[in-house]
Amino acid sequence: MGKRKKSSRKPQGPRRKDPLETTFTCLFCHHDKSVTVRLDRKEGIAQLFCKVCDQRYQSKVNHLTEPIDIYSEWIDAADAAERETTSTRRPAASSSRPAPAAVSFGSDEE
Ligand SMILES: [Zn+2]
Repeated sequence: MGKRKKSSRKPQGPRRKDPLETTFTCLFCHHDKSVTVRLDRKEGIAQLFCKVCDQRYQSKVNHLTEPIDIYSEWIDAADAAERETTSTRRPAASSSRPAPAAVSFGSDEE
């Protein structure tokens, strides 16, 4: 009694586990092929990052999503974010750039 279960494990051959990767030009630092889009269809997640300026973006994928879709989504998102920043016009406290010392022009010379 008892049939023996045949363990039919297919040899997986060369590693085909790597998610699809594609590189693009970064729209922030403009480095060619510095942006990597990684699609993990199993997880349904796409990750995009620039290895030069460290920009990151994450999105969802479905079976039709291509890396280029994520890339353009990223561009749209960055674009929208920028527009929002400009339109809301907050006095952003970005003090990354030191203000130039107020040059007083036109001191009365007369
Ligand atoms: Zn970059």
